Amino acid sequence: MVTTTVNDLDPRVTAGPELLNAIASAQASTLRSVLIYLCKDPSTASQIEQAMLVSNYEFQNQNTSTNTYPKKRKHDDKISRFARCVNCKDFDVVLNEKPGKEQACVYHDGILEIDADFFVDDDDVSADPYSIDVNTDWRVKEFPEGFKWNCCGQYGRKVKPCIRSRHSQTVVNYESGFNIWYLGKDGTYVTVDSRDPGDGSDET
Ligand SMILES: [Zn+2]
Ligand SMILES: [Zn+2]
Repeated sequence: MVTTTVNDLDPRVTAGPELLNAIASAQASTLRSVLIYLCKDPSTASQIEQAMLVSNYEFQNQNTSTNTYPKKRKHDDKISRFARCVNCKDFDVVLNEKPGKEQACVYHDGILEIDADFFVDDDDVSADPYSIDVNTDWRVKEFPEGFKWNCCGQYGRKVKPCIRSRHSQTVVNYESGFNIWYLGKDGTYVTVDSRDPGDGSDET
């Protein structure tokens, strides 16, 4: 029997607060091991399958519910419901296709670069600005104004991301018809790209 609804995770749990705390504090790798261990029990494995897999057929057809089903279905492939987005983190592939999720993913499509001119008095930066790792260096947090995104010209790690789109498992191809929203001058997201990366000019 075919259903077009997807399994949604029931928020009601019977676990006590101690167990929920243990789950919250465990590393992802530990949780993976526990899940794999639990799959020894067939009925638990089937529950985990319901939560983590989705029928590829239903997934492909969820937005075209008026379609008639093909006369004969071949075997029902299952695909992972949770995938890794190239721009942010894990996402739900079913939820991601739903209307209203077109701008669920926010990110910069450039890189954060150190502005060497900002650190003229810093010997380490002056010696070799490229030795500064923007992912780990303490200066990024202390002096956000000394680090600039080369996609939009904004400063600092915490600034509003300049791109919004659906989550994607692959780098977004701009010609693919994938809808992308850009941070506009007024701080809202628009479909026209008017970002100014600054081109290394020091004028403000
Ligand atoms: Zn940006
Ligand atoms: Zn994403």
